[in-house]
Amino acid sequence: MRRPKRFKSAYTQEEMEEIFRRFSVQRPEPRGELEHVNPFTLVVAVALSAQATDAGVNKATRGLFAAADTPARMLALGEDGVIAHIRTIGLYRNKAKNVIALSQMLIDEFGGEVPNTREQLMRLPGVGRKTANVVMSMAFGIPTLAVDTHVFRLGNRCLMAPGKTPDEVEEQFLKVIPEAYLFHAHHWLILHGRYTCKARRPECERCIIADLCRSPEKSCDVAAPLVELPPQQIGEAALVESE
Ligand code: SF4
Repeated sequence: MRRPKRFKSAYTQEEMEEIFRRFSVQRPEPRGELEHVNPFTLVVAVALSAQATDAGVNKATRGLFAAADTPARMLALGEDGVIAHIRTIGLYRNKAKNVIALSQMLIDEFGGEVPNTREQLMRLPGVGRKTANVVMSMAFGIPTLAVDTHVFRLGNRCLMAPGKTPDEVEEQFLKVIPEAYLFHAHHWLILHGRYTCKARRPECERCIIADLCRSPEKSCDVAAPLVELPPQQIGEAALVESE
């Protein structure tokens, strides 16, 4: 039988409400784990995070952002100077080139400021849709849903927003995430994927939505108690996470 072209969420709107209500109780103020001090350093940090862990990027950017936290200072540091800080991150040569090129474009075309529209952000070298969405949400408070590896996996594994590409998963999620929860949805999904619904083995026995989940990979039907995780615990866990 041929697969239908478009897959739909396996959940009703009421179930999605309940799933995100629980996420919101568990983590009332979810935060991104990439360290940054302003919109410019956020753009750089997200661009550097492709195929790298947040913890690995943070280790490298602490020194980089102390040396250069504006496009002008980044240009003054130069490509070799950037490389010296980020050589522990995968694809560092290419990423250093992009950091310099995007700093130059910000100065030449945007008066040294980070733009706040997806179209303009995606013109910056090394900035794709995911990075643009993260920056719009975290730097400018515009609700978007950036689809990274965790969000993509959750959309498909849990059948919340199945899709073959990140763009399809984003489109599906935007249809089913209740509007009131959209602003924090990106972080809730990432944190749920990073700490509970993990790539290699989902920890269903400690999952707060296990009773609602329709994943074929689910191994437990009982929802774990809803507890709020202290932010520092999330941060500490990030340092030891391998993914
Ligand atoms: S029950 Fe298991 S598969 Fe479903 S969301 Fe929770 S951890 Fe993931």
